[in-house]
Amino acid sequence: VIEIGQPEHSVVTTCAYCGVGCAFKAEMRGEEVVRMVPYKDGKANRGHSCVKGRFAWGYTNHKERILKPMIRERIEDPWREVPWDEAFSFAAAKMRGIQKKYGRDAIGGITSSRCTNEETYLVQKLIRAGFGNNNVDTCARVCHSPTGYGLATTFGTSAGTQDFDSVEDTDVVVVIGANPASAHPVFASRLKKRLRQGAKLIVIDPRRTEMVESPHVKALHLPLMPGTNVAVMTALAHVIVTEGLVNEAFVRERCDWAEFEEWAAFVARPNNSPEATAILTGVNPKDLREAARTYATGGNGAIYYGLGVTEHSQGSTTVIAIANLAMATGNIGRPGVGVNPLRGQNNVQGSCDMGSFPHELPGYRHISGDAVRDQFEALWNVKLNPEPGLRIPNMFDAAVEGTFMGIYVQGEDILQSDPNTSHVVAALSAMECVIVHDLFLNETANYAHVFLPGSSFLEKDGTFTNAERRIQRVRKVMTPKNGLADWEVTIGLAKAMGFEMTYSHPSEIMDEIAALTPTFAGVSYARLDELGSVQWPCNEKAPEGTPVMHIDGFVRGKGKFVVTEYVATDERTGPRYPLLLTTGRILSQYNVGAQTRRTDNVVWHAEDRLEIHPHDAEQRGVRDGDWVRLKSRAGETTLRAEITDRVAPGVVYTTFHHPDTQANVITTDYSDWATNCPEYKVTAVEVSPSNGP
Ligand code: SF4
Repeated sequence: VIEIGQPEHSVVTTCAYCGVGCAFKAEMRGEEVVRMVPYKDGKANRGHSCVKGRFAWGYTNHKERILKPMIRERIEDPWREVPWDEAFSFAAAKMRGIQKKYGRDAIGGITSSRCTNEETYLVQKLIRAGFGNNNVDTCARVCHSPTGYGLATTFGTSAGTQDFDSVEDTDVVVVIGANPASAHPVFASRLKKRLRQGAKLIVIDPRRTEMVESPHVKALHLPLMPGTNVAVMTALAHVIVTEGLVNEAFVRERCDWAEFEEWAAFVARPNNSPEATAILTGVNPKDLREAARTYATGGNGAIYYGLGVTEHSQGSTTVIAIANLAMATGNIGRPGVGVNPLRGQNNVQGSCDMGSFPHELPGYRHISGDAVRDQFEALWNVKLNPEPGLRIPNMFDAAVEGTFMGIYVQGEDILQSDPNTSHVVAALSAMECVIVHDLFLNETANYAHVFLPGSSFLEKDGTFTNAERRIQRVRKVMTPKNGLADWEVTIGLAKAMGFEMTYSHPSEIMDEIAALTPTFAGVSYARLDELGSVQWPCNEKAPEGTPVMHIDGFVRGKGKFVVTEYVATDERTGPRYPLLLTTGRILSQYNVGAQTRRTDNVVWHAEDRLEIHPHDAEQRGVRDGDWVRLKSRAGETTLRAEITDRVAPGVVYTTFHHPDTQANVITTDYSDWATNCPEYKVTAVEVSPSNGP
């Protein structure tokens, strides 16, 4: 029996795991969390939660947490604990030294989608104004950057169109490349409730996911081959156009008609039909036709998608193809419809909103715009560089070439998260200053010269923005164990580098964001306390926020149809690598497990397993539970096999939570043509029996 005592007070805050953004009451006894209670007035969760938010906060107190700053001259040296000021001075001297030796653009940084909006904003401000370049990127690069590109191109704004409540008005739910039952469980239960009330479900996914297998839910499953998303979207469009299912009134009123005609002529070509593409996609043409008819004519149709859409060489093209479908059927601009990216991390939306991309200032405004830069220059009192900076993969390439030598990484383990691990190792090894700002000594820290201890969401004030653009308060319930909240750490580093940023509380940072970002103009901590949360745009026109976007017109004016030609990935199967690997998550763990693995009261998912079809297993002499070697052109790893027909012949699947699996040792260098988002979801592999690791 564990004696936890009775709570003395409670504080409402927001879960720091996934993009659902569940609100919790942290019930406290002094500075100890007694329990996290799902908050009934939380607009995103309405009193519900999953196992992670409810129980997996113990990592805050984990013994492996680093609480003192550490420095070392060379990565071969042992770490030396130092006071904060010494760590800041050491880091600043190294970074400024690099700029002196290699030039202003030889350093940069990466913001974290796990940190608050205010912290992300400060990091990009430090880089743009303090470093003097735009070499800032975000971990969204490796997940939802194609969402930003695709939705901005077609609708004019880089965000989902609906609030979660909208699902209550939905008649047809289309889930593409996502498994909300595992990755967004609280939203999944709202979806399932609506499905039990009679809404129809179409799932487009290589694997028979938990959504397809949910009891009392009948799904139409299109089990496409990994890498053929664009061909499937185009075939759906083919049916809609050739069978006269286009909502012509909507398209004529809301979209560019000439662009629509060009698109319609393209998708109507016979080679784009479900029958013509069936061998390529692996999808039964009859099912595909039924799915298209159901989405186009079944009432309000809403599309929800995840990383199975974005993490491809045609990730941006698929997002555009999805937007084309929504516009063609008029499924946009009212409750119950829309195009909705399911964001993986708690603040992916926010980190993108806050100007974490090398070409965009906060609010998605291009850095080359003179008027926009003028505004920031006036308030920040600096001259900004109008040239877009380096994306993460370009930073790695430049490091290997010897022109990018210093990096500040906030809250991300790039060594585990980014593709082609050996290239990342080469890049980090080449750099003269790697600053890791994190809770734990992660894999990236093996190559770091400065370690700045991070703070958990329980130790700081700020805001997160969830997948439905909802800005919610994160409230400090305990003193940072490391002495400084993350926003204070960035300020300390900036000061040591000679760039003063003066704020006494994150609310002042939000006031500055609101002053510079039209979509946040009405956001303040007072407004958030009053309303509980707001969805951006929140400004004079919409003082209480905007649950559903594009109601009277698209943000860009006319909706833009774009022809989306299918181009096969360069990652091909062949005699040596005949199977296609795709990846996903389980409910109880989170990404590489840095937090969930360090929380005793969540049962650790002991290992990642490789799902393989019985036919493929038999051919290779693999039995259920056997160790197997998984080998790609990039590398190999060892894990246990699970024989199942959840995957089709020719496809294998694994999760990527356990550090021993090192899934990114196997993934390739291919990436989305528009955004460089890595192609994590398609890797040609071979599986063979193994004696274990
Ligand atoms: Fe946290 Fe997401 Fe679970 Fe909600 S669904 S408790 S936001 S991990």
